[in-house]
Amino acid sequence: MAGRQIFPTLIGNERIRALFRNELDGGRIAHAYVLEGPRGSGKHTAARLICASMLCEKRKSAADPLPCGTCPSCRKILGEHSVDVLTVSRGTRATLGVDPIRRMRESLWVTPNDGDMKFYLIEDAHLMTAQAQNALLLSLEEPPPYVMILLLCEDASLLLETVRSRAPVLPMERFSPAFTEEWLAAGIKNPDREKIVKAAHLAAGSLGAAKSLYAGGGADLERYEAAGELARILLSGRRSEALVFGASLPKDRAGLRQILSLARVALRDVVAGKRNGELLFYGAKEGIPAYAKKISVRRAVELIALVGAAEEDLAANLSPSTVMTSLFAGSFAQ
Ligand SMILES: [Zn+2]
Repeated sequence: MAGRQIFPTLIGNERIRALFRNELDGGRIAHAYVLEGPRGSGKHTAARLICASMLCEKRKSAADPLPCGTCPSCRKILGEHSVDVLTVSRGTRATLGVDPIRRMRESLWVTPNDGDMKFYLIEDAHLMTAQAQNALLLSLEEPPPYVMILLLCEDASLLLETVRSRAPVLPMERFSPAFTEEWLAAGIKNPDREKIVKAAHLAAGSLGAAKSLYAGGGADLERYEAAGELARILLSGRRSEALVFGASLPKDRAGLRQILSLARVALRDVVAGKRNGELLFYGAKEGIPAYAKKISVRRAVELIALVGAAEEDLAANLSPSTVMTSLFAGSFAQ
C-alpha cells in the first residue's frame, strides 16, 4: 500500500513518517512528542512538518501530500511566520530553567490566532533543569485541547521518566557516512571530495551537521577534531599531551566554548557506549578512543562534570588559558 505522501520534504525517517501517516489519518494524536537527535538531525524540520500537517487545508484530501506546502496555513507555518507556533528557548543560558516554562504555561490557555491549534516547540529540552521539567509536567498532563507540545531534544535519557512517559519519544534517523557523503555532494557545485568525506564522518549521522561542517569549512572541522582530541587526552590521563594540546587551542572564547561542549558530548558517548546507548559524537563504537575501555562509568561521569564546569568558568568570563589549566589540573588530580 502506497498511501498518501507524508512529510514530503523530510529525508529518510521512515519510522516517524509511518507513525504520522497512521495518526494523521484517523489515529490518535498525542498532545506532546519528543523529537530526539543531535544538532542538525532535522528536529526543527520535522516539528514544522508536524505542525503544518495538523492544520493543512488539504488534510482531509487523501490525494494530496501532507502537508501540502502551498495552502495559506502551510505557507505560514513552514515559512516560520505563524504566531501559533511558539518557541521556548534557553537564550544564552547554559540550561533551560523554570522561567521560560512558566511563561509558556501562562500563555497556554490563550486560544490560537489563526487555526484550531497552537504549538510549542521547546528547544534544547535535554538542558531543562529538574525544576523546569517538573513545571512542564503540569502542562503535559492536562493541556488545553488545542495545544501540542514538541520537545526538541538531543538526548531523551536526560528527561525525567515522568516527562518521557507523557510524550512518545521519536528518534530522528541517523544516516550512514556513505549516504551523508552522497547527499552532501549532490547539493554542492564542484564539491571538494576530501572535505566532504571529513564532514560526513565528523557529523556522525546528522545531515544538517554535515552541511554546516562543510560550509563552515576549516574552522568547524578543526573544532570537531580538537574536541575528539580533548576527550581522548582526558580519558588517557596523559599530562604531557595535555600541555602540548592546551597550547594549540584557539584563544577565542567562542571557539573554545564549542570545543568544550563537543568534548562533553564525546565523553557522554563513552558512557553511552558502555551501556549500548545511542552515540551522538562518534559515528560508531569503534570510533571511541581505546582508553575509554579502561575507565569506569563513574570516572567518565566525573570527566563530563569537569568539562561542564570548565564551560561555566568560560561563561563566567575566566580567561581561556585559566579555564584549560584548571580543567587539566582537576582531571589529573586523582
Ligand atoms: Zn497545506
